[in-house]
Amino acid sequence: MTTTATSVLRSHVCGDWFSGEGEGSPLFNPTTGTEIAHCSTLGLDYAAALDYARQTGGPRLRAMSFADRGAMLQAMAESLHAHREELLELSGISGGNTRGDAKFDVDGAIGTLSYYARLGGKMGDGRFLVDEEATKLSRSPRFVGRHVMLPLTGVAIHINAFNFPAWGLAEKAACALLAGMPVLSKPATSTSILAERMVAIWVGDKVMPAGALSLVCGGAGDMLDHVTGQDVIAFTGSADTAARIRSGQAVRENSTRLNVEADSLNAAVIGEDLEPGSVTWNLFIQEVAKDMTQKAGQKCTAIRRVFVPTEYLDAAKQELSEELDGIGVGDPSTKGVRMGPLASIAQLEDTQDGIRALLECCEIVRGEIGSGELVSGDFEDGCFQTSVLLSLKDGTNGELIHQREVFGPVATLIPYQGGAEVVAELVRLGRGSLVTSVYSDNRKFVEEMMFAIAPFNGRINFASAKVAEHSMGPGTVLPSLIHGGPGRAGGGEELGGKRGLRLYLQRTALQGDEPMLSRMLTDALVSSLD
Ligand code: NAP
Repeated sequence: MTTTATSVLRSHVCGDWFSGEGEGSPLFNPTTGTEIAHCSTLGLDYAAALDYARQTGGPRLRAMSFADRGAMLQAMAESLHAHREELLELSGISGGNTRGDAKFDVDGAIGTLSYYARLGGKMGDGRFLVDEEATKLSRSPRFVGRHVMLPLTGVAIHINAFNFPAWGLAEKAACALLAGMPVLSKPATSTSILAERMVAIWVGDKVMPAGALSLVCGGAGDMLDHVTGQDVIAFTGSADTAARIRSGQAVRENSTRLNVEADSLNAAVIGEDLEPGSVTWNLFIQEVAKDMTQKAGQKCTAIRRVFVPTEYLDAAKQELSEELDGIGVGDPSTKGVRMGPLASIAQLEDTQDGIRALLECCEIVRGEIGSGELVSGDFEDGCFQTSVLLSLKDGTNGELIHQREVFGPVATLIPYQGGAEVVAELVRLGRGSLVTSVYSDNRKFVEEMMFAIAPFNGRINFASAKVAEHSMGPGTVLPSLIHGGPGRAGGGEELGGKRGLRLYLQRTALQGDEPMLSRMLTDALVSSLD
């Protein structure tokens, strides 16, 4: 393991390892407060790093078939799997993750790479896509139009958030590499040690062609000043950083393609048909408690707003509090701990500030700020915050609940009275979310909710008694379904099987002689991305 002493994290650019000048930023173990590494990008030549990826990785990937690229992704997955125990341990040390949370990230990365590896295998020998049948353009059957989709010739710049250093790297890279674009990945500095190790494993195992995947550990510097119109930026993080990236001069002047996955005030809606104690009600209690505490609530998909029929508010308060009481908090390496600390001091302070802000319109049902019961560890050294369940105060409109994302183990109960239209209007106050869960066994309610909230959500999780035993909750992002959401959630879309490749491909209309077009397109895979 590289974590017993403070290590210097490196970037992997221009086909080599690079250590920045100076001390750079320190990384801490959030459970103990011990410094574990530091990293710097001072002196990194971003223009050269991006050019190397474009000129060395791009042509090599474009020469490979989808099946070849799939085989590369499979090798990447297997390589990580061979180091799984080490990666899980590192995830615990560097991110405060319990073993379950570490698996969520690391196994999520391996699973997503394997999924896209299988997809590449099925796509076969083609190297690009022809997405439609020929369209007749004149009276002559010879003069036709086709649409092709070829990979952009630049580099896919992936900027990730701190909460999923493994999965975040893998899910973005899988789609870009399968499409045929080289990647430069920049994890969030605070948890980048895990991403650095993953890339070191891949480089050591030689699973990718030169230039296919570069890594930057540390600040972004002037990286985005060097983007071109053939590059793609896929960003995950806060809405504030997204706004800064959107307004960058080079991004604007070159119309660089940008996909944003940002904050989201996800919701859970309890249908008026549910009785406390019913199968679907019990599922709601378990899933909300799990969602609040998995990864200490630091999940973009975590439920933040819980809409409950007024008559069941007291039951929800009591049962959720009891469920949360049963989830031990502390040092994630200790037995009996199911929720670890937040990932950094900055995250802890941000979460506690967020709870204080929400107290303007909410009361605390369960939990407290900066104290409470820990199974192990202590509040002095570690970034611990026990789970906090809030409830909207009587007589307040609670505007802030629909505006402030508290990125920690925190959710708010909001009573409502009326049918689907009433609660849908409240869901929509989030101005666009990644996911909303609807807990109901009433088909009419479910249908009304779908029409009323689908345009405001990237995903809707319909939880009912019929699927209770299969439910994985709203927090799990599956490679076969799209991930992203409109409006405040960033307006982006990732994954979704083949749909995830779209970001990295240029669709071009071709018009000309039918036999000539057909000959030219023999190397293509005829496929729709939907
Ligand atoms: P953040 O502070 O916005 O940072 C995200 C990434 O952007 C980090 O890699 C950061 O690097 C980088 N960055 C910061 N300033 C930059 C700049 N000027 N140019 C280029 N890159 C820059 O967000 P975070 O605190 O890591 O993550 C928390 C947020 O992410 C939450 O709001 C959460 O909702 C959101 N999130 C969304 C999703 C989703 O899929 N929708 C998933 C996870 C998290 P440094 O670390 O080096 O500053």
